[in-house]
Amino acid sequence: MIDPATEDQLTAVADGTTEDALSAVGAAAGALAGWAGTPPRQRAECLRRTFELMTEHADSLARLMVAENGKALRDAKAEATYAAEFFRWYAEEAVRMEGVLMQAPSGANKILVMRQPVGVSVLVTPWNFPAAMATRKIGPALAAGCTVVLKPASETPLTALAIASLMAQAGVPDGVVNVLTSSKSGAVVSAMLHDPRVRKLSFTGSTEVGRILLREAADTVVNTSMELGGNAPFIIFEDADIDAAVEGALVAKMRNGGEACTAANRFYVHEAVADEFGRKFAARIDAMVVGPGIDAATDVGPLVNESTRTKVAELVDSAAADGGKVVTGGRAPDRRGYFYQPTVIDQVPPDAVILGTEIFGPVAPVVRFTAEADAVAWANDTEFGLVSYVYTGDLSRGLRVSEALEAGMVGLNRGIVSDPAAPFGGVKQSGIGREGAHDGLLEFTETKYIATDW
Ligand code: NAP
Repeated sequence: MIDPATEDQLTAVADGTTEDALSAVGAAAGALAGWAGTPPRQRAECLRRTFELMTEHADSLARLMVAENGKALRDAKAEATYAAEFFRWYAEEAVRMEGVLMQAPSGANKILVMRQPVGVSVLVTPWNFPAAMATRKIGPALAAGCTVVLKPASETPLTALAIASLMAQAGVPDGVVNVLTSSKSGAVVSAMLHDPRVRKLSFTGSTEVGRILLREAADTVVNTSMELGGNAPFIIFEDADIDAAVEGALVAKMRNGGEACTAANRFYVHEAVADEFGRKFAARIDAMVVGPGIDAATDVGPLVNESTRTKVAELVDSAAADGGKVVTGGRAPDRRGYFYQPTVIDQVPPDAVILGTEIFGPVAPVVRFTAEADAVAWANDTEFGLVSYVYTGDLSRGLRVSEALEAGMVGLNRGIVSDPAAPFGGVKQSGIGREGAHDGLLEFTETKYIATDW
């Protein structure tokens, strides 16, 4: 493992094999009946204690995330808090598993519907939010009565291991949460998906890998939940509060240095306010401090690895070649570590290559528009549909446009949507299913219907 701020070797972790993966599945399968049969209140209390332990250890978890991922300490602390909240939320949800009892319309019998844990669940998570992407799955899985094998990203296994250790301290029994670190992700996940004891795959990562895993899951018809890539549009209308839009844009673009599936990827700004927005936004971006995540003053840490930085630099070059004007940034600073200067590119043509790709870096391309219909059509012109952002002072326009946007989530006059109590997820090729809220709990259950009479 490499520290992205220094390019030095950080540490090494065990490199799990397919045999290790199957023995982790065996441990989860062995613990399933006991955990599913544990009273919901008791399961909830384990989750609640994990929330408390994560809160107590938030600072050290944040520092671990900075070391393995590179993100700014401020972002890492926010993630530690957000990640812990999934355990508090699902501690509350664990005791609210409801069913249905109704009379059949014919009057012949009763319809009784209950929810049961889906079973052993394989959880695969990305490197960009090493804590939250894990807890957003483990929390609801355990609340529903499932046992899990978590395979974290190779870049960021340490946070997952630390959370599993806190879960053991919180009283989660052996075998309920298993963490498999491995550099052979394709082989180990495939082996687990082909094991009949595995009944669920919950994946967060790129759409490209999501497609591969959906094909793999088809072989054994494993239940899947998919949180995939995004290409979020951020639309600013001429009647918006521009200062508020600048604040929202900074959060939506720069949180986690732009390495977020919810990151604003394309800014569509009405011609009448584009100069004012561009000037104020670029000034704030220009003032951001780039440096090692561990420095308290740092706003933007390094990107996760060299290939991510190369991709970001190539996209900026392509936007300039397509006619965009680099207003600030546009280069990598001359220092060790995978840094890239926060960048604003104005007057990007609506068909530029950069607008069709998930940038995953601190780069904001701005496209100018005049007609609402164009902004909506351009925003929807993508295979992705995770989140969209809209800034307007006109509530009816805000709701009309939110309805027309092909996205699972909309930030209306807000630059952030993530909340453990809200259903997070995408439409189109951004995913299947939802995480967070009560919906997230249901993803780890099967519906059982009993026809009866008495
Ligand atoms: P990724 O390359 O798709 O990897 C995600 C996870 O899948 C990692 O654990 C990875 O392991 C594993 N993996 C890679 N290839 C695999 C294969 N053939 N079979 C099984 N597992 C495989 O994504 P990433 O680069 O880590 O994360 C960035 C992506 O995640 C972006 O597209 C972002 O939008 C998306 N994301 C989505 C959400 C959401 O909620 N919708 C949230 C966060 C991130 P290795 O690390 O060993 O390769």
